[in-house]
Amino acid sequence: MKPLNLVLLGPPGAGKGTQAERLREDFEIPYFATGDILRAAVRDATDLGRKAQAYMDRGELVPDELVCDLIMERLDDPDARDGFLLDGFPRTVRQAEVLDDALAARDRELTAVLVIDVPDDEVVRRLSGRRICVKNQHVYHVEFDPPKNPDVCDQDGSRLIQRDDDKPETIRRRLEVYHRETEPLVAWYEQRGLLRRFDGTRSPDEVHRHIRATLATLRLEAEL
Ligand code: ADP
Ligand code: ADP
Repeated sequence: MKPLNLVLLGPPGAGKGTQAERLREDFEIPYFATGDILRAAVRDATDLGRKAQAYMDRGELVPDELVCDLIMERLDDPDARDGFLLDGFPRTVRQAEVLDDALAARDRELTAVLVIDVPDDEVVRRLSGRRICVKNQHVYHVEFDPPKNPDVCDQDGSRLIQRDDDKPETIRRRLEVYHRETEPLVAWYEQRGLLRRFDGTRSPDEVHRHIRATLATLRLEAEL
């Protein structure tokens, strides 16, 4: 079968991580989320983490050169031969160009870019109630997707926390940065015929069904 090389795009809080949890099970492809990788680097106080933290705390993008290498290494992961799911990368046109060049150099290409659309006021509601587990970053929402026991992850029993950057001022800043730096990628990928749009205001299950159906069709078309 043809590999599935996928990018998840959308504003913070659109539900990219929520959908990624489901898609990883459907398609058994590795998942690379730059936000998770960067948060782990901050937690472990690595060189990268020390450089990235101030940008992340302010809700700004970490410089391209720090982020691109992280993803390039992972494209060469043997597990990624049959495809991958990128979340949170690329986030600038520069990053998209670097990704394109890196894939071309490996005789590979993207299969599709999945955009999850959600309006700004919904982003604010979602991020202010988001909780993630400390162990595996499983995602919950205090109102829309509450865990069975407060502050405990249903899946691995670890503690749920609120991310430092899910505070109102930082959420607003992240939205501004999204509209300025990342949203132009929607048109960029549309021009290349890769874009698939999804209405992120539907329930997580509906969004998931829609994405799964689109990917199944893409795979069928690739085999015709
Ligand atoms: P969300 O899940 O809310 O969309 P992420 O977890 O993807 O947010 O990202 C958290 C933060 O990590 C961003 O605000 C930014 O500072 C940094 N970051 C993540 N991915 C990138 C990237 N591709 N380029 C630059 N900064 C990034
Ligand atoms: P992203 O990775 O795009 O930043 P998340 O998957 O972390 O987004 O979702 C942000 C918050 O919104 C989480 O608290 C999650 O539980 C909640 N959420 C995700 N998808 C939906 C949805 N379709 N409807 C309502 N809430 C959702």
